[in-house]
Amino acid sequence: MLAYQHAYHAGNFADVHKHLILFAAQRNLLRKETAVTYVDTHAGRGNYPLADAETQKLKEYEKGVLPLWRTRAALTNSDGSEKGLIHEWLGELAKAQGVNRGQLTHYPGSPWWLAQALRQQDRLHLFELHPGEQQHLEAQPLPSNAQRYRADGLLGLRGMLPVATPRLCVLIDPSYERKQEYNEVAETLAFVARKVRHAVVLVWYPLLPAGRHQSLLDDVKQAGLRKLWCSELRHHAPGQEHGMYGSGLLLFNPPWGLDRKIENAMQRVVTCLGGEACHRGYWWVGE
Ligand code: SAM
Repeated sequence: MLAYQHAYHAGNFADVHKHLILFAAQRNLLRKETAVTYVDTHAGRGNYPLADAETQKLKEYEKGVLPLWRTRAALTNSDGSEKGLIHEWLGELAKAQGVNRGQLTHYPGSPWWLAQALRQQDRLHLFELHPGEQQHLEAQPLPSNAQRYRADGLLGLRGMLPVATPRLCVLIDPSYERKQEYNEVAETLAFVARKVRHAVVLVWYPLLPAGRHQSLLDDVKQAGLRKLWCSELRHHAPGQEHGMYGSGLLLFNPPWGLDRKIENAMQRVVTCLGGEACHRGYWWVGE
């Protein structure tokens, strides 16, 4: 089943949550010169013109990235703390707009966010199984050390471990169209942790009224993994509406201090989103 197309949801609050944390984690990794292999197991198209018919259908970006984008001017006198992280992220987002950096016309996907900070010594592996989405991804201008595969991302990731570089950073961002995906993701994370103990892994999960993400969290705890930190951004209270009420991100081996940085940045995001938005960061399993 490959019905999901991210273009319908591009730039929504979950994208902001996920890509802001990805950006913060990557910034942290860039502090050292040693090479990093990045793996994006569910890459999507790589870039989403907001004017496209699919994105215009739901216009989810209007309740996601747009309110944050509009605060750009207010953030220019940043003090270098949490405002700084969002300001930096918005600065990168402006670069994705091409010549007209003042207007938000495109929302970049995870391949773009990972590629924008790729150094010569780093590697990027992008997996996308949907033929149409993969075709879009192939059309993206990416550096030569970024490789694209039309293949299953979890199997592809397992097959390339251990990697040749000293460090590994993985984004696992499935569409969870099948219930079993929660368990498959947990098994894959446990596999990665066994093969590359110091890997930094980000696993995105939706917060749904059915609470299915709990089995993913329980499985990784049962597998004996440690250093698991969760960031959960609620858009509204559960049960009010069908579908996703929030966005979750599980971080395995979060770089030191990243939890506090994310907590601070998310307070700013929550203010921008308004309404019932709130954020909770917690250690699911500590040291
Ligand atoms: N990571 C992207 C981003 O942040 O811009 C969004 C990814 S979207 C949530 C999930 C993607 O996974 C879809 O494009 C879907 O076609 C793709 N997909 C579904 N099953 C897959 C699989 N087994 N392996 C690789 N990609 C898959």
